[in-house]
Amino acid sequence: MKKLIKHVVPLFTVAIFSMLIGCKSIQQAPVIEEVEMVEYFADNALGTPVAVVQHPAGIHKDGITYVSYQGPLTDPYVAAYNHNTKQWQGPYQAGESDLGRLKSKRKKPDSHGKPTMLIDDLGYIHVFFGGHGGSREHGENLLGNYNSGRNKHVVSKRPGDISEWQELKNISVFGTYNQALKMDNGDIYLIYRHGAHRSDWVYQKSTDHGRTFAEPVSFLKHKPHEERDMHDSWYVWATRGQNDDIIMGYDYHYCWNGHPRGHIPERHDLYYMVFDTKNNSWRNVKSEPLSIPVTRQIADEKTLVARTGGDDMWTFNGTAHLAPNGYPHLSINVGKDTGQPWGGAKQTRYYSWTGKAWIGGHQVNNQLSQNRGSEGDFVIESNNKVKFTLAYQEKNNDAVVADFHSQNGGQSFSKGHELLRINGVSWSVSSLIQDAHPDARILVAAREKGTQWQKVYLLGDNGPIKRVKSEALVLNPQ
Ligand code: ZN
Repeated sequence: MKKLIKHVVPLFTVAIFSMLIGCKSIQQAPVIEEVEMVEYFADNALGTPVAVVQHPAGIHKDGITYVSYQGPLTDPYVAAYNHNTKQWQGPYQAGESDLGRLKSKRKKPDSHGKPTMLIDDLGYIHVFFGGHGGSREHGENLLGNYNSGRNKHVVSKRPGDISEWQELKNISVFGTYNQALKMDNGDIYLIYRHGAHRSDWVYQKSTDHGRTFAEPVSFLKHKPHEERDMHDSWYVWATRGQNDDIIMGYDYHYCWNGHPRGHIPERHDLYYMVFDTKNNSWRNVKSEPLSIPVTRQIADEKTLVARTGGDDMWTFNGTAHLAPNGYPHLSINVGKDTGQPWGGAKQTRYYSWTGKAWIGGHQVNNQLSQNRGSEGDFVIESNNKVKFTLAYQEKNNDAVVADFHSQNGGQSFSKGHELLRINGVSWSVSSLIQDAHPDARILVAAREKGTQWQKVYLLGDNGPIKRVKSEALVLNPQ
């Protein structure tokens, strides 16, 4: 939906206009000109430009929301919105991805290397992107297998300035699904899968604002399954917990050998564990110690949150957060395999720890299309109050982003405010923006039929943050 706003033309224009028409007394009332505003801030996003797993995709700091997404050639693009001046800046291309430049059998762009953002304690902005496992020509991957695309790291040339970037070759090229965390003492943890599906999940630590990183440390192990003809594989979503803790939810991928349907993204169940970065120790929700890398056997015995259904109920990553009482809450997307290459539509479910047991498994939203699932992220406002921001497709083919509220710790949700509604688009959604301003909480990209390009929206309490149309047209500037 497009909207017009009034724009004030400077007074000297009024003066010239008055002279031209021979008017001797200059009118003081300003002439009104109309400038077209649009709800998106850029129109050059490509593939799956944002996702829940590569996070954060945006960070709010000192009145400015910095956002990143995947653009032309799958390169990372960064824009910024100043909440005080209400001005947009960018998008700027922050780096060059291998993935959009490699010859590939894929019909669609390989979106695994979409950007992840971090702002260090000196104010420099970092973007991690481009990785989908690397290849043998980049060296031997001792922690997993290969696919394509080097994982890369760029940093802004100046603090808080997104206009110029430089590459730092200081992380493993094999990384996939970057997740970047900064602790209170400024230490940075980059968490990712060290290669393609059959790879360990690792972290790399930096104590100098991301200028150097220690070697990767494995915390979740890939290996052949002992009985079934498949390989143990994992998908992790990590964030900060209390104090020096990193918490993570994860699900288990059945990485089959020679499945009749080819390679399928069959994933199941939900797990949770904690990394105490101060004492360099790992534990489960009951504070029992875990030795790393955690194997499937240990994960099943010590870290299981829930079995999410039989072999025909597949999962996709949700997110994890702590309530003020320190108890973890997790979401996971679950849906029946309908034989499609990706399984089928998955709906977001919610689990929480009571201090003694995991409870939940209820759907956040029950009013959904059967063809397309839901995805999103949540904040825990108090021990009982949860706000879930969810993107989903309604039966009438409207893509909707809306808040869902729970007053009972996530046992049930009711729909609240709608942030966006567009008919007939396919969409992708990010995790919540880190330290979000209320006006800018989540990123959504939407693709209309007949184009590969997508429009990107920054959404908050007042819906999308609008932009002058001529600025938002990045592909074909007017
Ligand atoms: Zn696999």
